[in-house]
Amino acid sequence: MSVFKNYIDGQWIDSSEVIENINPSDTKDVIGAYAQATNEQAQSAFDCAKRSFDEWQNKGIQFRADALDKIGSEILERKAELGELLSREEGKTLAEGIGEVTRAGHIFKFYAGEVLRLNGDLVPSVRPQVEVEITREPVGTVGVITPWNFPIAIPAWKIAPALAYGNCVVFKPASQVLGSAWALSEIITRAGLPNGVFNLVMGAGSNVGAAILNDNRVDAVSFTGSVTTGGKVAQACTIRGAKFQLEMGGKNPLVVMDDADIDVAVNCAINGAFFSTGQRCTASSRLIVQAGIYDRFVEAMKNGIEALTVGNPLNTDTQIGPVIDQAQLDKDLEYIDIGIKEGATLLAGGEVLKREADGFFLSPALFVDTTNDMRINQEEIFGPIASVIKVNDFEEALSVSNDTQFGLSAGICTTSLKYAHQFKRRSQAGMVMVNLPTAGVDYHVPFGGTKGSSLGAREQGSYAAEFYTKVKTSYILS
Ligand code: NAP
Repeated sequence: MSVFKNYIDGQWIDSSEVIENINPSDTKDVIGAYAQATNEQAQSAFDCAKRSFDEWQNKGIQFRADALDKIGSEILERKAELGELLSREEGKTLAEGIGEVTRAGHIFKFYAGEVLRLNGDLVPSVRPQVEVEITREPVGTVGVITPWNFPIAIPAWKIAPALAYGNCVVFKPASQVLGSAWALSEIITRAGLPNGVFNLVMGAGSNVGAAILNDNRVDAVSFTGSVTTGGKVAQACTIRGAKFQLEMGGKNPLVVMDDADIDVAVNCAINGAFFSTGQRCTASSRLIVQAGIYDRFVEAMKNGIEALTVGNPLNTDTQIGPVIDQAQLDKDLEYIDIGIKEGATLLAGGEVLKREADGFFLSPALFVDTTNDMRINQEEIFGPIASVIKVNDFEEALSVSNDTQFGLSAGICTTSLKYAHQFKRRSQAGMVMVNLPTAGVDYHVPFGGTKGSSLGAREQGSYAAEFYTKVKTSYILS
């Protein structure tokens, strides 16, 4: 089997250590072998990124815009092939895989335009004959550390703005999804960037990831992943004064009011809780349902869940693919046990399923008779598992939805303008959805949360400039 190499200083670099990438729908299907960067190789990536910074600035903004546009075009042209690779290695359905690749292409195109739109301010000084100019400059070298659940979109929404605003990049993808990360990187390497501007270093978080966090040549770290790792990023970057942004977990509520359109509510809940196998930071894991609609909602959810087709994501009729790996499957099953021991009723699913090949298939699980203080309602599980919590009125629904350490996304299904507005205003989440699933966002607007879900500047849209640039104020005597 040929080995997919790391990319450092414009060269493909081999390593004596490789890891294999396994298809979670068929554990006998090895997708590829990927070189694991040594610590020395990571160091040389930091070096060359630093060295190539000036050359990158001198290329100018038209060059940058064209390069990003070219990357976006190739991603879009190859969306069917890349989407299939993504589904094969991550387990989301083919439609979701192609959708994610399309999103990645659009993100590069969006930032190709943003390159030309970055501007500053020229303002009068309080002192006579002085002018004040406020400009944004690139931060330097950005370390990009990404999770496995969006193998191409999350790298795209970090790498594209990093390059657009003139930074160099050292990219460390999650070890479970190196196929998509490598394919994206290979496209970037053919966009004409000077050597050293973009580097791919594959390897364990505890090794290559930790090296990125602790090296003074890395000026900023953009991280998406778990709260535990996010804490390590914050600690290391704070100690050495590096800029960082964290996107972490969620325990996202979807409120269903008595006046909701039941079909809309059930669609939002099933999509939000179980699509992409529930492995989305924005997944609706807490369904907070008003007493008057509760019985109808729960019955419709049970029917809807039992009608879902779980299987190989490359089959076109599959709606729910496998969970990512054995460790995540074990974690999901452990939480199903925890829920039962806490006194919740498992109304549907929660069973390991056998399919034609050996994979990590779990039937989507729904708990009822739950309270918000249960561990299953407070801790992020990151699987196809949701709970229903019964409430009496809007105030209780709002209070339960905000009663969490997280604050990424929150939704409400209602036909009342008053409740919709109140929820939008009083929800503590960073993103609020009305009559839409909590997961599923646009690529040209800010993405991010509050409380334990996010720390630092927002990602995506033009708001990304906040993280990927630093502000300079210049005074000129005229
Ligand atoms: P994770 O275990 O924290 O890993 C994320 C990345 O950090 C991986 O590349 C990992 O490398 C790396 N890493 C691990 N230990 C490290 C260390 N000591 N130093 C530096 N890097 C290290 O998270 P995950 O399991 O991949 O992803 C699931 C989590 O991501 C969930 O909590 C989910 O909610 C969150 N997520 C959040 C968002 C959002 O935007 N808020 C979006 C998607 C996912 P290796 O795994 O290769 O070792």
